[in-house]
Amino acid sequence: MAGIEFFKKEDQAWFLDPKEGFSKKSISLEIRRDDLTGHRSRILPYRRKYPEIVISPEMLEASKKVCPFCVDQILLSTPKLLPKIAPEGRIRRGRACLFPNAFPYARYNWVIVLGEEHFLYPDQFSVEMLRDGFSVAQEGIQRIVKSQPDFQYSSINWNYLPSSGAGLFHPHIQILVEDVPTASHKEVLDGILRYRNEGIPSFWESFLSEEIKRGERYIGRQGDVHFLTAFSPRGIFGEVLILFSNRSTIDEVRTEDWADFSQGLTKVFQYLKNHILSFNLSLFSGNRDGSRSWVYGRLCPRMIIPPWLTSDINYFEKLHGEVMCVISPEELCRDIKPFFAGSHQA
Ligand SMILES: [Zn+2]
Repeated sequence: MAGIEFFKKEDQAWFLDPKEGFSKKSISLEIRRDDLTGHRSRILPYRRKYPEIVISPEMLEASKKVCPFCVDQILLSTPKLLPKIAPEGRIRRGRACLFPNAFPYARYNWVIVLGEEHFLYPDQFSVEMLRDGFSVAQEGIQRIVKSQPDFQYSSINWNYLPSSGAGLFHPHIQILVEDVPTASHKEVLDGILRYRNEGIPSFWESFLSEEIKRGERYIGRQGDVHFLTAFSPRGIFGEVLILFSNRSTIDEVRTEDWADFSQGLTKVFQYLKNHILSFNLSLFSGNRDGSRSWVYGRLCPRMIIPPWLTSDINYFEKLHGEVMCVISPEELCRDIKPFFAGSHQA
């Protein structure tokens, strides 16, 4: 039986350093490959610059004036669901409100506004607010799958702040439900199937137990939801990988799992608030040809790089498909772990 490989290769670059009288200097770099998907990244801590955390009050005020998700606009400005799916038009849970995306990128692409506040810092999201948002997202997915059983590939997605791609400041998440997996989801499912054919029947289970044993990237757990840092990250500031153990589809996720997931997220947010505010988050659900995945999630912090407002995505990621990451996954794990103190460490 083949094991799970954690491939990394160290390399060096040399130059004559103008800061030290043009003496010969070497810089170490590290190339990593995710065994499941083949995703490659480079760990380059010497490129790290923390962004200035500034949310301009003027910009917030201006965006609030035209915000369709604010409480005085949401009923007038947001679309309603078709009556055969939701006679009530919009689905509510707690303070969360679900409705179709007015600018859809798929047949089933809906939006969930998390609450009345136009803007919240990451550490201002309560567990209840997040739990209700994810629960109503799940209900939306369930309603679609019930009427369209072939549409079994679903995801719950979040761009937080314009610097991560969000069109609005007002906190909102989105669901996407389709009959085929998206490209990165397919890579994961293909990988799981490959492992299965090589004698590893449940990739995520074997992977999780290996990561817990290694301990370098395992952050902690809340109930059945595990938080790790990804070995070969997909973002400039690393990637938090989330595994819902033994939940193979979003349909199987229980209310207490959403509470646990939200609790863990608030801990990651506590870490983020002092470093990087913006992030992308996606939770993936669906199985293919008996691939037997678990529900998994990826959270990548996003940043504008000082001092010239440089994008964190350049040709290397956009065109070569590889990520330059400025923090080692092991360091990111050590930094987030204290916020999980008190919860189970597996
Ligand atoms: Zn608003």
